[in-house]
Amino acid sequence: MIASILLEIKAKNVDKTFDYLIPETLKSTIKVGMRVLVPFGPQSLEGYILKIKDQTDAEIELKEIIKNIDEEVVLNEELLEIGKFIQDNTLASLSSAYSTMLPTALKARKKTQISKKYETYLSLNISLDQAYLICKKESQKQIIELFESGILISKKDAQSISVSSTKTLIQKGILKEEKEETYRYQIKEYIKDEKKKLNEEQENALNKIKESFQNSKTIVLKGVTGSGKTEVYMQAIEEVLDLGLSALVLVPEISLTPQFILNFARRFGSNIAVLHSGLSDGEKYDEWRKIEKQEVSIVIGARSAIFAPLKNIGLIIIDECHSDSYKQENRPKYHAIDIALFRSKYHNCPVILGSATPTLEILARAKKGLYELISLNYRVNKKPLPSVTIVDMAEEIKHHHPIISELLEKKIEECLEKQEQVMILLNRRGHSTTINCSSCGFTYKCPHCDITLTFHKSTKNLRCHYCGYTKFLDSNCPNCQEDALNYYGLGTEKLESTIKEKFPLARIIRMDTDTTNKKGALEKIVEDYRENKYDILIGTQMISKGLDFPKVTLVGIVSADITLNIPDFRSGEKTFALLYQASGRAGRSNLPGSVIIETFNPDNHVLNCVKDQDFEKFYEYEMNIRKTLKYPPFYFLAHLTIKSKEYECASKEATKTANFLKRKLNKNTIVLGPTTANMFRVNNIYHFEIMIKYRFDDSLKPALKELDKLFLLNKKVDIDIDMSY
Ligand code: ADP
Ligand code: ZN
Repeated sequence: MIASILLEIKAKNVDKTFDYLIPETLKSTIKVGMRVLVPFGPQSLEGYILKIKDQTDAEIELKEIIKNIDEEVVLNEELLEIGKFIQDNTLASLSSAYSTMLPTALKARKKTQISKKYETYLSLNISLDQAYLICKKESQKQIIELFESGILISKKDAQSISVSSTKTLIQKGILKEEKEETYRYQIKEYIKDEKKKLNEEQENALNKIKESFQNSKTIVLKGVTGSGKTEVYMQAIEEVLDLGLSALVLVPEISLTPQFILNFARRFGSNIAVLHSGLSDGEKYDEWRKIEKQEVSIVIGARSAIFAPLKNIGLIIIDECHSDSYKQENRPKYHAIDIALFRSKYHNCPVILGSATPTLEILARAKKGLYELISLNYRVNKKPLPSVTIVDMAEEIKHHHPIISELLEKKIEECLEKQEQVMILLNRRGHSTTINCSSCGFTYKCPHCDITLTFHKSTKNLRCHYCGYTKFLDSNCPNCQEDALNYYGLGTEKLESTIKEKFPLARIIRMDTDTTNKKGALEKIVEDYRENKYDILIGTQMISKGLDFPKVTLVGIVSADITLNIPDFRSGEKTFALLYQASGRAGRSNLPGSVIIETFNPDNHVLNCVKDQDFEKFYEYEMNIRKTLKYPPFYFLAHLTIKSKEYECASKEATKTANFLKRKLNKNTIVLGPTTANMFRVNNIYHFEIMIKYRFDDSLKPALKELDKLFLLNKKVDIDIDMSY
C-alpha cells in the first residue's frame, strides 16, 4: 500500500505531495488525515496523508514511512475538504491552508513537542483490611484512610500527606497507579443561571431561527446595541443541543473575556470548549481534542475556531459579523464567514450573522432575499438608545478647548459626580503622532517606512507603527540643534494625561495595544473596569466592541475624523460601525446614556447618521456611492500587492502584471492600477497595488494562478493576492 503525503516545504506558496510505502507494521493504523514522519533527503519531515492507494506514478523507488505521529486522525474528512476550499478560493497552497486550520500542536512541523497531559491516579490493589494490616507507619495509614470510600485518588493528593510513604505503598503493591488524560484548561467556578424570558422581538427571532434548523440557511440577525442578541443565541443553542446537535460560536477576540465565557458556562456548564489566542499551545491542543472526541457540544472561539473539528453541527453563530478580525490578513487570506457558509452546507445547518452594523455586502444580500433578515429594533426592556451630540472642534479651538470640548468636560464632571462610568474613544495610540522643529521644519520620520514616528511618552521613545523601528527622542532638534521641537497629533497616551490633569481625582485606565500586549492584560482591564475599579476608560477601537458595562452612561469620541480620513473606500462604513458600536456602550442598563462626538466635520453625513442612530439612512447613502464607484456589493474585488526591496523592480513588475491581467480578463472586468500603495514603503519594501473589479469572470482565477506561478520564478519581487478584499 502506498500513501500520498503532503509535505510543507519552505518555498513560496507551493504544494508538494510525495508517495511513500506504508510499512507492514503500520498498515492497520494508518489512515487518511493522519500526520506521519517520512524520510526526505538527508532529513525527516512531517506531513499529512492525503490518500491511500495501490499504485504510484513515481518512477523512483519509494521510501517507507518512518512512523505515524498521532494515534488519531488530525484532518477529518470535512477538514480535508475545507482545506481544498481555502486553496481554491484564496489561491493559497494546500499546506498553508492546513497549517492555518490546525492548532500549533497538530501542525506538520519538524518537531512536535506538545503532548497529552496525564494525571496519575491511585487505587487499592488489595482489600482495605489487608492494607491496614500491612501498614505500620502513621503516614502510610493516613494515606490508606483516603481510600475508605473505595475511590480513585490523584497521586498528588496522596503525596500531599507523604511522598515517600506513597512510594512505598506503590512498591509493596498495596496501591496501584493508573494514568488518565487531563485537560489543561478549565472554566472557572460558575453558578448555574436560568434562561431569561425573551421579549416579543427576541421570541420572534428565536422562532424564525428554529424554523431554519436542519437547513443550510444564512440568517442575518440585525439587532441594535443592547437588544439582547446573546440571549437569543443561547436559547437557540439550547434548542440545537436538544436535537442532539452541536453549536459553533465565533466572537471577535476582544469579546472573549472571562466574563463572556462565564455567561455561557452559567447556562451550559462544562459542555463548552474555548479557543482563542489567550490560551497556551497545550491548552489549545486539549480543547481541540475535547471537541474531536465529542466531549463537548459547544465551541466558542475567535476566528480560527471556525476550523474546530466539531461534528454534527446544528448551528453556527458569527457575532459582530462585521468585525475585521474575521478576515485573516496573511496567506491564506480567508474570511471566517466563507468557511462558516461552507460548513453550513456540509452539515445542513443555519448560520447566524449577528451585528448592529452588518457590512453592506451582508445586508444587501439579506435585503435581496439571499439571506434571511431578522431585526431586533429595540433595546431590551425598550430602553432608549443613547442621545448623540456632535461638537464642532473648530469652534472649541477658538475658545481654547483643543482636546476636550467644553460640553464633554462638563458631562464627564456630571458623570463622575453621580459615580457613573465614562468611556472615551480615540482611535490612535501613542502620545503625539508628529514631532517637528519650529525653527527649521525638521520632522521625525521612519527611515524604513513612509510615515512620521509616533512619540510614546511612557517609554520616552519614538516608534514606527508599521515596522516597529524605535529611537530615543533628542532634547534638541537633530537637524538645527535648536530647542524648538513641538508635539502635534493626539494619541491615547496624551489624551490620558490631559484627562488626568483635568480630573485629578478620577481613576483612569487606558486600553490600547501598548497596554494590552502582555498575556491577560486586556482581560484584567475589562474585568477591573466592570468591577468599578476605574471611572474612566480611555482606548482605541478595542473598547468599542461587544463589551457590556452596565454603569457606563457617557461615551466621548475624540477626533472622530481619524477613521473617516483613512483613504479606503470602506472608511465611511468603518467609521459608522466604530462610532455606532462605541455609542452603543452607553446606557445599557437602567441609566440613560449619552454620546459626544468631537469632529472638525460636523456636517459630515456619516457622523450625522450616527447622531440619528440611523443605520438604514447610512445604508442608503453608502449604497449609492458604492454603486456609482463600482465597489462591493455591486462588484467583487480582488486586490494584488506587488512588492520588492528594489523600487524599479516592483514598479516594472506591477506594470507588467496589470498589462497581463488586462489581456487575460473579460472585457467587463476593470483592472485599476498599478498605483503606489497608501503605505508605499514599509520596512524598506516598496508596495504597488492593482485592484480588480469584477462581477462574473471565469478567467480571473486561472489568470491569477498563472501569475502566482510566474512570480515563483522571480527572486526579487513578490506578489500577494487577496481574493476577498
Ligand atoms: P447585544 O449583544 O444585542 O448588544 P446583549 O446580548 O449584550 O445585547 O444584551 C444586553 C443586556 O440585556 C445583557 O445584560 C443581557 O443580559 C440583557 N438581556 C438580554 N435579554 C434579556 C431579556 N429577555 N430580559 C432581560 N434582560 C435581558
Ligand atoms: Zn517603519
